[in-house]
Amino acid sequence: MAAEPILEVRSLKKHFQVGGGKTLKAVDDLNFAINRGETFGLVGESGCGKSTAGRTIIRLYEPTDGQILFDGKNITHLKGAELKQFNRSMQMVFQDPYASLNPRMTVGNIIAEGIDIHGLSSGAKRKERVLQLLRDVGLNDEHAGRFPHEFSGGQRQRIGIARALAIEPEFIIADEPISALDVSVQAQVVNLFKKLQKERGLTYLFIAHDLAMVKHISDRIGVMYLGKLIEVTSSDKLYANPLHPYTVSLLSAIPIPDPEIERRRERIILQGEVPNPLNPPSGCPFRTRCPKAMPECAKVMPEYMEVEPDHYVACHLYY
Ligand code: SF4
Repeated sequence: MAAEPILEVRSLKKHFQVGGGKTLKAVDDLNFAINRGETFGLVGESGCGKSTAGRTIIRLYEPTDGQILFDGKNITHLKGAELKQFNRSMQMVFQDPYASLNPRMTVGNIIAEGIDIHGLSSGAKRKERVLQLLRDVGLNDEHAGRFPHEFSGGQRQRIGIARALAIEPEFIIADEPISALDVSVQAQVVNLFKKLQKERGLTYLFIAHDLAMVKHISDRIGVMYLGKLIEVTSSDKLYANPLHPYTVSLLSAIPIPDPEIERRRERIILQGEVPNPLNPPSGCPFRTRCPKAMPECAKVMPEYMEVEPDHYVACHLYY
């Protein structure tokens, strides 16, 4: 059976007007689709626009241009009751489990917020729903009456996940959900995401700043640089045969567990910093750091094209 997209993003732009009449093109012409039940990893360095993309897709930000289709429905400019209805289908888990939970509310009430907003249940049924959610994310019934400061970072992220699940969404945008956690806890939270996906048939957009973090969870991966997608393909293809020089350099930074291979491995150290997004380079946005840059890279922006089945790249090396 052909894979069925639950989310399609077409030429999506989110620009911000900043001081001095300048425009920050935080998200610039994104095109990708996410199939039902899969995990799409969206990766890039800090400031590349990946979080803005997530927030625009869930409609925390109004898109500047382009289209967002969810389940075939155009949700790009939904407002009022229609937007509220859509919010039941898509929820967000935030990066910082310390800042995203209201410190004055009990965990039970934090988790029940969405249930109350959407009037999904009340009284004993509401309570049972909250307790079941706590159990589903690996916490206990007695945690419902406690406050966020009584929990570790990993536990707080479990509470954030339970809150997102409370209204039974089909789609979750997880914005760097493991970046603020200890390395030892990161794998546990990734495993929880995987378990919940299997049990509930969820679809994820999983945002991270390095490819190592999305490796074990993503079916497909998109790599962003300066507001643009520069490579999108299946996880298997990306790790086995990365095409864009930026992806190649990101992958070369991931340590390999086999000491023999690790010793022989070539690391590519990128020169310089990510350019100022208010003043991006001409032509290819990566050209100021690209080890393979050619004269034409400064003149012409490479098109984002399918260079082999289900493998999209924006680089002059491939056409
Ligand atoms: Fe490098 Fe040119 Fe490809 Fe950009 S278009 S990634 S500068 S080779």
